[in-house]
Amino acid sequence: MTTSSRFLPEERRLDANMLAGPLSEIFAVDLTPAFRRCSMCGHGGAFAQLHVYVDCPGLVARCPNCQSLVLRLVRNGNTVWLDLGGTGCLRLHLE
Ligand SMILES: [Zn+2]
Repeated sequence: MTTSSRFLPEERRLDANMLAGPLSEIFAVDLTPAFRRCSMCGHGGAFAQLHVYVDCPGLVARCPNCQSLVLRLVRNGNTVWLDLGGTGCLRLHLE
């Protein structure tokens, strides 16, 4: 048993504010204050409310309502894999 396996995934869950740094390397706009509509359950709320699991290969964000996969981000050196397949619709206000 490893040290990290003693925790339930929900105990190591963070909100998506922690994605602001990694996503700022890819996008010019901060996505965390964006309004998001889930493509699976229709739940609406701030992108920052996503549940982020850090004990995966990379970062995995799930809908706080239905737990469907929203985003996967894996970084290896200067290479980033970003899967936004479950993101749904985002509404951003630009300044
Ligand atoms: Zn959902």
